Amino acid sequence: MAEMTHIGGIHVPVTSHDADPGDRRGARERLQPWWDAERIERSRIVVAGAGAIGNELIKGLALIGVGTILVIDLDTISPSNLSRSVLFRDDDVGQPKAVVAARRAMELNPAVTVIPVVGDLRRDLALSTMRSADLVLGALDNIEARFTLNRRTRLAGAPYIDSGISDTQAQVSRFIPGVGACYECVFTEGMRRRFTERYSCTGLVRRIPDRAVPTTIVGASIAAALQVQEALAFLHNSAGGLQSGQRITVLLDAYRQFIDDLPIDPDCMAHVLPVAPEHRLDAGPESLTPAALASAAGDPDGGVDLGFDIVEAFHCPSCGAGADQPVCRPAALVFEDEAICPGCGGERQVRLTADILPDSPARNRPLATLGVAAREILRAGTTWVEIGGPDPWGAPSTVHLAHGDG
Ligand SMILES: [Zn+2]
Ligand SMILES: [Zn+2]
Repeated sequence: MAEMTHIGGIHVPVTSHDADPGDRRGARERLQPWWDAERIERSRIVVAGAGAIGNELIKGLALIGVGTILVIDLDTISPSNLSRSVLFRDDDVGQPKAVVAARRAMELNPAVTVIPVVGDLRRDLALSTMRSADLVLGALDNIEARFTLNRRTRLAGAPYIDSGISDTQAQVSRFIPGVGACYECVFTEGMRRRFTERYSCTGLVRRIPDRAVPTTIVGASIAAALQVQEALAFLHNSAGGLQSGQRITVLLDAYRQFIDDLPIDPDCMAHVLPVAPEHRLDAGPESLTPAALASAAGDPDGGVDLGFDIVEAFHCPSCGAGADQPVCRPAALVFEDEAICPGCGGERQVRLTADILPDSPARNRPLATLGVAAREILRAGTTWVEIGGPDPWGAPSTVHLAHGDG
């Protein structure tokens, strides 16, 4: 017989024995009558980041039986990750974090599906992917990624549970679009400076080492455990857990915890209405160009807003050699030193834009080459369009209309 205790409005069973190990779900239901296994099984959760917190988070979500978990991370495993990553082994060094984490999580619970996306948070996690998720959980280690994910979850209308750790504390926040403060509401000048120090004044990437945040498995596992608890509260529609716009801080050295109501910034730029695509296209980013997208949206001369900057071209004002050399790659992938003119060694001017106009050299290039993911939702002229391509959740496509089924 399980004895119940109460944590954040959720009943947590305390038990000293386990039921039939061959029947994971049945065992849970017998022990925990409030537990809605079906709700958890049909949940889709995005985990952004497969580092220290991400490992603990994916582990927890897999063990509770979250049906589909999509893990996105750009990095590969380094030896220094091994001391705080339960899902990684020595032999995994050099492999993509998302792929290894997904494989190990499915070993922990073969009943769940974990989909790895080796990619960038800004470009490779489409708005439609987040729109069709129950929750987005941030397991990120830098301000820029959190800033981006906050903005993107607002656009997607997706609930976002953020986490952060240092060597002395763990924090978790809940942000539901349209309710209370968001991550950007409490953004400070200092945070903005750290955010922008990676970029040159022309907007290109500087080659500086990433700031290492001192973290341990202790902070990571506490933050992740709180996020799993938040996910459970959210999926069960429980009154427990945090309110939207609240943050819990656990001080590891003082063994204290407190909850803050984060103040709403009335001028916060992240408070936008979620997108509602008016058109859905079959064509994916491998074949679709901004020109074709604009035409399909009924505004052939309209701009196509990628939502992130690309470098359209370099131009050397001193030697003029090469005139305009098209680049057409995401600015986040173009390093500062690439702007040096191969002709005269001077610094070339950089033409950056997110809005691809009819005279842009990127206008007739496939969206994939510009950094746009399958199923992304883009603004063409004044309308939002969802493009095609494989569904990252792996469900078969049911979309066949070229126009106006949204
Ligand atoms: Zn805000
Ligand atoms: Zn030059």
